[in-house]
Amino acid sequence: GGERDLYLQVHGALIPRGESGHARAVLVFTDITGIKRSEQVRKDFVSNVSHELKTPITSIKGFVETLIDGAAEDREILERFLGIIARQADNMHAIIEDLLQLSRLDEQSLGLEESPVNVETVLRNALERVREIARSRDIRLELRTDEACMVRGNQGLLEQAVFNLLDNAVKYSGSGGEIVVGVRRKGAVAEVFVRDQGVGIPPEDLPRVFERFYRVDKARSRETGGTGLGLAIVKHIALVHGGGVSVESSPGMGSEFMITLPQEQA
Ligand code: ADP
Repeated sequence: GGERDLYLQVHGALIPRGESGHARAVLVFTDITGIKRSEQVRKDFVSNVSHELKTPITSIKGFVETLIDGAAEDREILERFLGIIARQADNMHAIIEDLLQLSRLDEQSLGLEESPVNVETVLRNALERVREIARSRDIRLELRTDEACMVRGNQGLLEQAVFNLLDNAVKYSGSGGEIVVGVRRKGAVAEVFVRDQGVGIPPEDLPRVFERFYRVDKARSRETGGTGLGLAIVKHIALVHGGGVSVESSPGMGSEFMITLPQEQA
C-alpha cells in the first residue's frame, strides 16, 4: 500500500504435458499500480469529505440537543448557540459549494467557455472583492502590472483563482502589512503573483498545500471559515487553462503564490 509498492495482477495457466514430457505453466503479470493508486486517492478523498462534513454536523447536533434539554430557556445561551449552529451550517455549505466547483472543473477541462482576457482586469476585479476586509485589518493592497498582458481563458474562473489567493493572503496576514498582486511576462508565459507578509508556511508543508483539504493549521483554518479547498480550486483553474501553480514561503516572513498561464499570441 505504500508509495513505492508495485501492484501486479497474476494470471496463470497450466499447460498439459507435451511431447517433451514436461509440465509447463504460463504466468502473465499485469502492472496495475496506476489503477491501485487512483483507487486509493479516490478512497482517501471520500473519507476526507465524510470527515470534513461530519465535524460540523456533530457540532450542530450537540448544540441542538443541549438546547432541547432545556438550555433554550436561557435567552442569551439560545442566541449564542444558534449563532454557532448557523456558522457551522455556513461552513458545510461552503465545503459543498467548493466540492461542486471542483467537480465542475473536472468535467470542464475541455469545452471551457473562453476568450482573450486582459490579466490586469482580472487582478483589479479580484482586488475589489478583498478591499473592504483588507481595509478593516489595516492591510495595504498594491497592484503591480508594468506591461499589458493577455491570456486566453475564462475570465470568471481566473478572477476566482486570484480572489482565492488574495483572500488567503488577507486571512493569513493577521493585521497590518502589505499584499502585492501583479503579473510579469516570462517568455510565452504570464506569471500572476500574490505576495503577502503573513504567517508563512513551513517548508515541510509547502509541497502539500495545493492538495484538497490539506491545511497547515486545521484549527486556525476552521476558525477563519476555510474549507481547505481554496488552493485546490486555484490549481484546477490553472490546469484547465493549460497553466500551473507554485509557491514560495518562509515562516514568519510571508508567502508568494504564483499562477502561470500561457500568453495569448497577438
Ligand atoms: P483554507 O480554506 O484552509 O484557507 P486553502 O486551500 O485556501 O484552504 O489553503 C490551504 C492551507 O494553506 C491553509 O490552511 C493554510 O495553512 C495554507 N495557506 C494558504 N495560503 C496561505 C498564505 N497566504 N499564507 C500562509 N498560509 C497559507
